[in-house]
Amino acid sequence: MKNIVIFGSTGSIGTSTLDVIRLHKNSYNIFALTGHRNVELLFQQCLEFKPKYAFIEDNNLANILKLKLTENKVKTEVLHDKSDLAYLAQHCEVDIVMSAIVGSAGLVPTYEAAKHGKRILLANKESLVAGGKIITDTVEANNAKLIPVDSEHSAIFQSLPFEYNSLDEIGVNRILLTASGGPFLNLSYAELENVTAAQAIKHPNWSMGQKISVDSSTLMNKGLEIIEAFWLFKSTVEQIEVVVHPQSIIHSMVEYIDSSIIAQLGSPDMKTPIAYALNAPQRIESGSAKLDFMQLNALTFCAPDYIRFPCLQLAIESLKYGGNACAILNAANEVAVAKFLAGTHKFYDIPKLINRALEKFSGAGAKSISDIVALDTEVKHFCLSN
Ligand code: NAD
Ligand code: MG
Repeated sequence: MKNIVIFGSTGSIGTSTLDVIRLHKNSYNIFALTGHRNVELLFQQCLEFKPKYAFIEDNNLANILKLKLTENKVKTEVLHDKSDLAYLAQHCEVDIVMSAIVGSAGLVPTYEAAKHGKRILLANKESLVAGGKIITDTVEANNAKLIPVDSEHSAIFQSLPFEYNSLDEIGVNRILLTASGGPFLNLSYAELENVTAAQAIKHPNWSMGQKISVDSSTLMNKGLEIIEAFWLFKSTVEQIEVVVHPQSIIHSMVEYIDSSIIAQLGSPDMKTPIAYALNAPQRIESGSAKLDFMQLNALTFCAPDYIRFPCLQLAIESLKYGGNACAILNAANEVAVAKFLAGTHKFYDIPKLINRALEKFSGAGAKSISDIVALDTEVKHFCLSN
């Protein structure tokens, strides 16, 4: 029986994780669940899984949760101090940490889990984008395991040997990172200028949280994923190529020096990468639909368009620039996306605001997680008033 904490249990990845765990109740015990706003769903999850702890930061919501749990005779202890996220990530009874909070709020729990040698199932790509070097160094120094949940990275992970020292040693030539292209793949620049948040969050293939849905529509998601792949697989920037594949059936590929390409395919359902991350390299039932090739139409491919989707270029440039650039890019993007979702900013205001932040802030690479958290706060503050 393995004890697991799900950070962000009320979100899209969090609920899919619980769907997978429901199939394997004899192997995984829910030790703690965390939510942010949706107290009713967090309560329902506690009622079903009876975790030792539940976390919700807002004081009033924490009180509501406590009351509901007491009324229903559930013994889950409610935590609400911000430092409790770190407490749960490093708890000695915890074996597995699902990092599925959205945004840089996931950075500290991911780091604490790394510092304490946990098996980390990483959905929260923003923590690697903002703190890739520190997180991966901490994982190595403490014998933790960092296992990708992002579907593309899970596909790459599944197309590589389970353990290896370097991509060179195993004859990897390139990583082919597939992208659906998002809901606006075929719109012109002029049409994109006036798209709305409501249109952006209707992804053609995947059902996801609002932030990542907007990131998919700007292709910033693919940019963040290039940075994520760079750190996860220790590749060079040049080794990662984005291939637009609108059907989202091939989840990514690895090309070897003999020109052989290994790909991972499946229906677009996050339960497959979640199940693999839980138990890799052994496979377990995921509950997602089997792919029926007879029902598939053509699989198509094309190159990304950096003019209509400038966020992708900004992410690549930030990765090449190094230092703090990716942390700045990530923080500015979070604020820009929130403004787009609120309707106060337009589609192309997102890359404009990120550009302003990248010009305003610079400096050498942060040395600690608290440096990154401080920079993240400062950049967000600047972006909120610009
Ligand atoms: P979501 O918005 O559906 O859920 C986010 C979760 O984080 C919720 O449980 C919410 O309560 C919690 N949360 C939000 N702000 C918080 C804060 N400040 N402090 C603590 N908790 C907070 O998002 P999602 O789609 O599940 O995505 C979660 C992460 O997984 C993101 O980093 C995303 O990029 C990544 N991811 C998601 C998918 C997907 O299919 N949804 C695929 C790949 C990667
Ligand atoms: Mg992805």
